[in-house]
Amino acid sequence: MSAFASKSGRAVHPQSPPSGAAPGGNTELASLFECPVCFDYVLPPILQCQSGHLVCANCRPKLTCCPTCRGALGNIRNLAMEKVASTVMFPCKYSSSGCSATLLHTDKTEHEDTCEFRPYMCPCPGASCKWQGSLEQVMPHLMSVHKSITTLQGEDIVFLATDINLPGAVDWVMMQSCFGHHFMLVLEKQEKFDGHQQFFAIVQLIGSRKQAENFAYRLELNGPRRRLTWEATPRSIHEGVQSAIMNSDCLVFDTSIAQLFADNGNLGINVTISMC
Ligand SMILES: [Zn+2]
Ligand SMILES: [Zn+2]
Ligand SMILES: [Zn+2]
Ligand SMILES: [Zn+2]
Repeated sequence: MSAFASKSGRAVHPQSPPSGAAPGGNTELASLFECPVCFDYVLPPILQCQSGHLVCANCRPKLTCCPTCRGALGNIRNLAMEKVASTVMFPCKYSSSGCSATLLHTDKTEHEDTCEFRPYMCPCPGASCKWQGSLEQVMPHLMSVHKSITTLQGEDIVFLATDINLPGAVDWVMMQSCFGHHFMLVLEKQEKFDGHQQFFAIVQLIGSRKQAENFAYRLELNGPRRRLTWEATPRSIHEGVQSAIMNSDCLVFDTSIAQLFADNGNLGINVTISMC
């Protein structure tokens, strides 16, 4: 069965339908798993109402009764449907955006996380902007909604973060344009429970993961007889910077280091972007 699955997260088209399913009958089978509330698929663990109707795990907690028969939702597991579900090839969530991949439900989430047809989210840090759209629409969105972000031209610039001593969690954002591309520079300050503060600096390309692989960035803090450097491949805004920040896969430093390099509460980070 796993021969049909996509392990790499890339779209893989099955050579033949899974055993037992007639060609073309698979989509019909998948439609049996459609949630009547959100039209997403009901995947294992599959719970049914007392009359056998299914609702997906996302919708279930929001409901007081079965949306189909208004009966009690109960806690009845449908093991037979779960078995069937494990043989069905489900279309990717972004099929309406052009993705033609069909996947076993166990491979579906992993594929969808990296599916090239997944819409791009607004790359600004913090969850305040809910915008999403195509890659081509990202720059127009930034220029119309996030006008206040400064853009500097050139491969070698200084990202100046002012008032780094501001209390609480703060984000500093700047754009850098070079090599015909736009990069977003992010400095994020996080406050831990014990009041300990950490800074995370990272660069993301307004572009796909493939495009990001063509570049490298260097972040450098420079002070009298001191230097702190980080070099890496920029993230694509398709994956975003939050997971990298969580894993410290970026330039990380604490308040004392920030003070060593800051001048009057302002911190200059040298940013160099190169093609590789
Ligand atoms: Zn649902
Ligand atoms: Zn029902
Ligand atoms: Zn897809
Ligand atoms: Zn936005």
